[in-house]
Amino acid sequence: MRAYLPAYDLQVPRNLEETLAIMEREPGVWKPLAGGTDVMVLLEAGKLPHQKFLSIWKLAELRSIEVTPQAITLGALTTYTQVQAHPVLRQEFPLLCRAAAETGGIATQNRGTLAGNIVNASPAADSPPALLVYDAELELVSARGQRWVSYHGFHTGYKQMNLRPEELIRHIRLPRRKERWRQYYRKVGTRKAQAISKVCFAGGAAFAAGEIRDIRIALGSVAPTVLRCMKTEAVLRGQKPNRAALDSAKDALAQEIAPIDDFRSTARYRLRVSQNLLEEFLLEFESSQISHVR
Ligand SMILES: Cc1cc2nc3c(=O)[nH]c(=O)nc-3n(C[C@H](O)[C@H](O)[C@H](O)COP(=O)(O)OP(=O)(O)OC[C@H]3O[C@@H](n4cnc5c(N)ncnc54)[C@H](O)[C@@H]3O)c2cc1C
Repeated sequence: MRAYLPAYDLQVPRNLEETLAIMEREPGVWKPLAGGTDVMVLLEAGKLPHQKFLSIWKLAELRSIEVTPQAITLGALTTYTQVQAHPVLRQEFPLLCRAAAETGGIATQNRGTLAGNIVNASPAADSPPALLVYDAELELVSARGQRWVSYHGFHTGYKQMNLRPEELIRHIRLPRRKERWRQYYRKVGTRKAQAISKVCFAGGAAFAAGEIRDIRIALGSVAPTVLRCMKTEAVLRGQKPNRAALDSAKDALAQEIAPIDDFRSTARYRLRVSQNLLEEFLLEFESSQISHVR
């Protein structure tokens, strides 16, 4: 352990109201501690930027999963294990279940939470591309009130986000779609499990008369934030998913993403793999119009 533990302070508020009151009194000083799977890694490495934490792990207000005809609303503390077990998520949001199943190992899936993944803001995180495809919305709360924001646009730069120092995420809402989607998810890493992604791709498309009527594409590990690729989507909307459309979309994707060389991979590899995954998404299942997750 490289950190000096007595320098840290951890409090356990009894409820959400008390948590928000402490955060309001000293904005930015107290940070939520959820499953701790990111925080503890930083602590161990002696790189934890904050010293005061409020454990929110036991707050019942952040644990619910509510299903209505319009949406499924997940408490901030929803873990990867809970995501994989929920029947509505398994049926209608397979990309998120797939991301959860490929996040770390069982221990991490039991402790790691969706809100923690969002706020940790790694561009290589696995759930955010699925959340972008599903048009997720976030409920942010503070002692002064609450607001809903679109998850698309929440990250404003590397580790930067539209979250005030006194706010925390209370809920993540996923609208339920009526029509059938072709859905595709693939994480490419060094190994099948326990690996951070070199590229992570999530896509969803609705077809009418053989044409792409609606499409969402989001990638991880190819830019300073997880990226929704709206220019590539625009090139494909209204097109038949054929070779010509795909070639144009691959060019658009190359313009839209900004992969880098780092210790995990190279920019060249990431670009090539991103384009190959786009091709697999669009062409491999060309004849089938059913939901499909690989
Ligand atoms: C061995 C291992 C393997 C991993 N593998 C993967 C992987 O394959 N893919 C992947 O994406 N991630 C992976 N992770 C990262 C991690 O598990 C996830 O990012 C996890 O979802 C973080 O959730 P948490 O509850 O543990 O967050 P914590 O560590 O408790 O918190 C993380 C950050 O989020 C903030 N926070 C937490 N909850 C809230 C809230 N409700 N509102 C506002 N801020 C909040 C905290 O203040 C902190 O800044 C791995 C981690 C480990 C240790």
